[in-house]
Amino acid sequence: MPTTAVNALVEALPYVQQWSGQIVVVKYGGAAMTRPELAEAVTEDLVLLRAVGVHVVLVHGGGRMVSEMGARLGLTTKFVDGLRITDPETMRIAQQVQIGGISRDIVAAIGRRGGQALGVSGHDIGGWLRAQPKQHRDSSTGEQVDLGRVGEVTSVSTGILRALIERQVIPVIAPVAVDDALQSLNVNADSVATAVATALGAARLIFLTDVDGIRGPDGVPVPELDAATVRAWMADGTVSGGMRPKAEACLTALDGGVGRVTIADGRVPHALLVELLTDAGVGSMIRSG
Ligand code: ADP
Ligand code: MG
Repeated sequence: MPTTAVNALVEALPYVQQWSGQIVVVKYGGAAMTRPELAEAVTEDLVLLRAVGVHVVLVHGGGRMVSEMGARLGLTTKFVDGLRITDPETMRIAQQVQIGGISRDIVAAIGRRGGQALGVSGHDIGGWLRAQPKQHRDSSTGEQVDLGRVGEVTSVSTGILRALIERQVIPVIAPVAVDDALQSLNVNADSVATAVATALGAARLIFLTDVDGIRGPDGVPVPELDAATVRAWMADGTVSGGMRPKAEACLTALDGGVGRVTIADGRVPHALLVELLTDAGVGSMIRSG
């Protein structure tokens, strides 16, 4: 083994000791998910982190792939304030793409690298991830909009996740929850990651995305910022689009007691290892203060 590789391993030791035995929830989305070479690197990171004792839990997104499949089947996607209106047919496609497709591919990729994973969605074990239909008022008209099968998480029953963690199996969670009748509800994967991290009392929550962090009014990404700044930037529109639910999810996670919350640049190969096992950062860390 070349000396540099040995040195890198030795330098990683204190970080391995810090995070080994801790629960780390990773939200996997954006570019890291759609570019094959980046997806491969994420798989390697998860398996390596698991091998050194880090209890990784993965929550994946898939909105773009759901839209693509919907378009291929001739469905038109309607959005209100960036929220997808999910009719029953779209819900079925979302479920098939996310649980039948994306989850399976990730579980298999982890297996090919010698790791063990199990795909779960809200339906399993009597409905471990529950949600209720999300209420929304159109920001321009102020009127109540029926978003269809769009949910917000109401409860997380962690038994299945803890059982997998104890057996060194990586839970791979699709962002589909169930209502009281165990019917599917599509939930933003960022908020699923927060709900899961909070329920598990995770030490860290890392959102892999396709930007270099939260950008300020000058367009420059900020390596570290506090909750008050995030709130101000949400109010004045500096944080918009898909970063809004993500920022909201970060704040809720900090309120819920998650130790450290980071938005990491998933376009950087091995961003997870850089984030967890080196002193470099690849995005923005949000402080609760
Ligand atoms: P993901 O697939 O990881 O959930 P999203 O597309 O939903 O990613 O959200 C990230 C996007 O949010 C960025 O690509 C960017 O276009 C947008 N965005 C809006 N405001 C900001 C901001 N202040 N800083 C960084 N990204 C922002
Ligand atoms: Mg998003």
